[in-house]
Amino acid sequence: MADTVLVTGGTGYIGGEVIDQLLAAGKTVHTTVRNKAKSEARLRERWPDAGERLKVFQADLMSDDGWAEANVGCDAVAHVASPFPLGVPKDKDELVIPAREGTLRALKFAKEAGITRFVQTSSAAAIAYGQPEKDHFDYTDWTNLAAGVPPYIESKTVAERAARDWVALHAPDMIFCSVNPVAVFGPVENDDLSTSVEMVKQLIDGTIPALPNMGICITDVRDVARAHVAAIEGPAEKVRGERFPTSTDFLWIEEMAKIARERAPEHSRKVATRRMPDWVVKLLAPFVPAMKQVKGELGNVRNVSGKHTEEVLGFTFIDPAQTIEDTVRSLVDKGIVKV
Ligand code: NAP
Repeated sequence: MADTVLVTGGTGYIGGEVIDQLLAAGKTVHTTVRNKAKSEARLRERWPDAGERLKVFQADLMSDDGWAEANVGCDAVAHVASPFPLGVPKDKDELVIPAREGTLRALKFAKEAGITRFVQTSSAAAIAYGQPEKDHFDYTDWTNLAAGVPPYIESKTVAERAARDWVALHAPDMIFCSVNPVAVFGPVENDDLSTSVEMVKQLIDGTIPALPNMGICITDVRDVARAHVAAIEGPAEKVRGERFPTSTDFLWIEEMAKIARERAPEHSRKVATRRMPDWVVKLLAPFVPAMKQVKGELGNVRNVSGKHTEEVLGFTFIDPAQTIEDTVRSLVDKGIVKV
């Protein structure tokens, strides 16, 4: 059992929830942030009673500084930090390099500190892309980079592959596994929104004027964190080498909008009801970056199964309608969206 866990990227949506659950389970948590002066006060505000059980270290994915100190005294690592921007960078290396180098750096310092359990936050991005002939995926599938995929998808696939190759070569005794979430929604803590939640925000604040013909699988941030904690705590023989997709149902945006309207009607007055025709998406794509991303997903079904994770880690995912309702309510309750 791990007593002290390093969580990289404590300022993030998922990193914060992982810290929350670890502290609630009585663990001591070390966390890395890019800018300690800027972020530590906000973290202490969220966990005012953590005291010495929460230690904050400054460490960037692209530099060795701070990583050795952050690992001292830890038994396990949840490596969550990775760039996840809203837009698409011109140069894919802005994402691919920090994702890969940062993961290898986190692994190397963990090994040097004698840490034997390492959970990487990968993504369904490393599972379900570049295979146009398929619409159902599970933990055995890998994104096909040869098909040409967007930079974020590439960054997550390259980082997970690099981690697995590194462990096989340099730390074969390490108990390594990945958690591979689909789009993560759920309650938010503050207005520093993850890219995934930004989409729900835009749905309920009316920024999305009509609903494009695209869909996604969704997972709840509390389940994503729970999978990390279970992977840290679970028996080595169940966890070693595993991939743990967290995912519930595939939903079209239209279905998500309907759920929001039904379950939180007072907050969903600005949710679009009209369908955006495919030709409008295609027309706007050259001019509006968000539409370019939507265009690539028009009509695509990417159903990623989380069943394996539920079976191996032994818990049941939160109902996706509940997740959507809780996301909407927390965005409004925290004053992030005015409806
Ligand atoms: P987020 O809120 O944007 O968090 C990203 C975290 O990574 C932040 O703490 C950020 O630090 C840190 N980070 C980025 N670049 C860094 C760098 N160069 N050096 C150090 N830290 C850096 O996003 P999230 O949704 O929680 O995502 C966390 C992880 O989950 C990522 O690996 C992402 O790929 C994965 N994931 C997310 C989803 C989703 O739908 N949200 C789905 C699948 C997988 P700053 O605060 O300093 O920027």
